[in-house]
Amino acid sequence: MRMLSHLRPSQIPLRIRLTLWYVLSLGFILVLFTTFLYLQVRRSLVAQVDAALHLAATQALLSLGEEGGQLAFQNVERNPEAMRNLNDDFVIHLLAQDGTVLDTLSNDDDVPVFPVQATGFRTLIDEEDPWRVYSQEVAAGSITGRVQVAQELEPVVETLASLQAQIVLGLPLALLLAGLGGFFLASRALRPIDHITQTARAISASDLGQRIRYQGPADEVGRLAQTFDNMLDRLQAAFGRERRFTGDAAHELRTPLAALKGRIGVTLSRPRQPAAYVETLQEMEQQVDRLIRLSNDLLFMARLDQGQFRPQTERIELADFMAAVMDQVRPLAEAKAITLVESIPPGLTLQGDLDLLIRLHLNLLDNAVKYTPAGGRVTVQAERMGTQVIVSVSDTGPGIPAEHLPHLFERFYRVEGDRARGWRDNGQGGAGLGLAIAYEIARAHGGHLAVQSEVGRGTTFVVYLS
Ligand code: ADP
Repeated sequence: MRMLSHLRPSQIPLRIRLTLWYVLSLGFILVLFTTFLYLQVRRSLVAQVDAALHLAATQALLSLGEEGGQLAFQNVERNPEAMRNLNDDFVIHLLAQDGTVLDTLSNDDDVPVFPVQATGFRTLIDEEDPWRVYSQEVAAGSITGRVQVAQELEPVVETLASLQAQIVLGLPLALLLAGLGGFFLASRALRPIDHITQTARAISASDLGQRIRYQGPADEVGRLAQTFDNMLDRLQAAFGRERRFTGDAAHELRTPLAALKGRIGVTLSRPRQPAAYVETLQEMEQQVDRLIRLSNDLLFMARLDQGQFRPQTERIELADFMAAVMDQVRPLAEAKAITLVESIPPGLTLQGDLDLLIRLHLNLLDNAVKYTPAGGRVTVQAERMGTQVIVSVSDTGPGIPAEHLPHLFERFYRVEGDRARGWRDNGQGGAGLGLAIAYEIARAHGGHLAVQSEVGRGTTFVVYLS
């Protein structure tokens, strides 16, 4: 284990930092509390002494009289019981105005006399011993003087010293115990986080299958673990999609390339007539066109994914727009004797990116014409519903089996499931990207693309745009 002193504060493990903070704040509170307690005890002990001093002075004054023109305690011997109580602990001096000691009541002979003080309590030092002294002016007839009652503070000092010793010893011990307890609790609370860290370390891009599967309560740590697992689910799905996409893209590129290579090989295998070379080159051109379309689609898809397409919105008159799009598929429709029907109310407009929307609708119309058998019908309708414009493209084609519908907008998804279209495809077959692109374009416009289909009756794609 590394020494803590070599670590920057941010590198110290959290459980130790928590414990340190805990001990530090507890120590601060305890020091404040014990100081307060100590001062309170001291105040109350001194107050007790003061009350006793005052009482002693009051009782001594009962015996105050005058003898030979001077103040004196009288009848002291006649009331020994009372005076014993009085002077057991106290030193009581009767002083003249000039400070001369006139009389003393004390058990001890060698007792200190303190300089004359104003009326009140003082703490004074005699030969390094602290004394509590009460002084009061007194008078007997016209003679004035002063009574001074004093008591050693030794017992109070001893009590306070013992209290202090207990605090000084007890405080670190209490902090040590609190620190151990705090460390134990912090370790316990943070153990699941260690588990999360270990799991996270064990996860690599190639193995996203691990989960924390936290079994504890749904507290802060439980929620963290759950969030982590959910994030891994999403990452795993995203990685999976990415991998499939790369694999599918490679496959789609390889098919026409393999076809090209094969065709070139066959053509070169023996000398041929010029017309045969021309035919080969024409067929090769179709494959190259397919490759170009595919790479354009891939590029387009990648740019959509990176969020590089900010739709350049403009006002689009739907009837004109759709007429232009339909013109593009008309030659193919006519070649297959497919009827194109359009039903768009005039004046219907929407806000959108012209190029992207052309691409979206052209994909739908192109598919409709492509997959509808000769003699069929393709209908384009549009209407406004609230803030949305809804465009539907229906055909009387073969329809799409229900099990394919949930995947239809996935990249490279094709209903036939057969990618190897080979040479006979004439380069016309799509790579299964058309609908995925259409879907993303609708989404980039804050809209949506949906499909309804019934096998044998036809398919309808519905674009919702706002
Ligand atoms: P492609 O470019 O291969 O046509 P798409 O993403 O446009 O790819 O379409 C995906 C699949 O959906 C196609 O392989 C096709 O089988 C099916 N499909 C799309 N439109 C229609 C339609 N109008 N009628 C029947 N099937 C369709």
